[in-house]
Amino acid sequence: MKAIQIVKPGNEPELREVQRPTPGPGQVLLKVTAAGACHSDDFVLNMPEDGFPYPLPMTLGHEGVGVVAETGSGVDSVAEGTAVAVYGPWGCGVCHFCSRGLENYCSRAAELQIAPPGLGVDGAMAEYMIVDDPRHLVPIGDLDPVRTVPLTDAGLTPYHAIKPSLGKLVGGTTAVVIGSGGLGHVAIQMLRHLTPSRVIALDVTEEKLAFAREVGAHETVLSDADAVANVRSITGKDGATAVFDFVGYQPTIDTALGVVGTMGDVTIVGIGDGVAAAKVGFWTQPYEVSVRAPYWGSRSELIEVLDLARDGVLDVAVQEFSLDDGVEAYRKLAANELRGRAVVVPA
Ligand code: NAD
Ligand code: ZN
Ligand code: ZN
Repeated sequence: MKAIQIVKPGNEPELREVQRPTPGPGQVLLKVTAAGACHSDDFVLNMPEDGFPYPLPMTLGHEGVGVVAETGSGVDSVAEGTAVAVYGPWGCGVCHFCSRGLENYCSRAAELQIAPPGLGVDGAMAEYMIVDDPRHLVPIGDLDPVRTVPLTDAGLTPYHAIKPSLGKLVGGTTAVVIGSGGLGHVAIQMLRHLTPSRVIALDVTEEKLAFAREVGAHETVLSDADAVANVRSITGKDGATAVFDFVGYQPTIDTALGVVGTMGDVTIVGIGDGVAAAKVGFWTQPYEVSVRAPYWGSRSELIEVLDLARDGVLDVAVQEFSLDDGVEAYRKLAANELRGRAVVVPA
């Protein structure tokens, strides 16, 4: 079968012919119907070869939707032919976090060498993929695979990031979204649907700002040296109640801390260069600001996000690619030429 693999860090991924996997005991084989490309893939592709954390070659893709093609021995909870979305942050299933559905924070994953598909084991950018446990599948019914697959990360991650701030985002408040890409454009829609807040989106080009307005941002501001002053001219002296940074480089983290108001939340979702950080101390930000850096989301939250999609409140912008053109999808992602999410459709 065909698969898009990372072969050598620092290089482009490659379309390669690989062995079609067979499901072992407890596993499920999916015929992939859609796979999403995330900016985190680009981060991984550019990690130094020395000390690279994953076995190579590795099939990319931590956003996957497919149809159950075959089940391993002992699997009787999913039937062949069922259309499913993959919950990607696999954990052990039994530790304290996993038992709450928060497998993204499994305390034993490293010790047991459990890794998400596409981020440690072969992922969804292929004709078929292995899912380690039927627990990691959510039936999607008649949802469109192409528009649904980004929800497994570009939907789930912003949802998990926004949820803890919902109680603060009451009438008269402002939420700021930095980066209106794959994750950010879904975050804007979630904030509009789940809160009465004014939503201000920041990005680097007029085209991206127009996209942010199309998906629901009330106001947009260029993410430049004047961004803090320009956002504050909209929020007034109270500042923003919640800021979600889907970029995570030092300038955007500084902007986030610069626009947040007293008792506000700063949530850093973007990985940026992997080293940027928020400086927090008594005199450095307004009183009682909370700063979080969450990772992905819980199993039950994925079900909630898919329910939002079923309710018709999420319109994910996708650009479709065939598996043969999948490498081009990663080129466009790296060049920041996408509008929404790149989705690879194998068939
Ligand atoms: P993307 O490439 O689709 O979107 C990034 C957006 O940010 C683009 O619209 C781009 O124009 C904009 N941008 C770039 N520099 C900016 C700046 N200085 N100011 C404002 N906007 C800027 O990326 P994505 O797939 O949405 O991922 C976003 C980030 O989130 C990445 O860093 C990714 O690695 C990370 N991520 C984190 C998690 C997590 O669990 N924490 C999960 C998924 C992705
Ligand atoms: Zn991702
Ligand atoms: Zn666990």
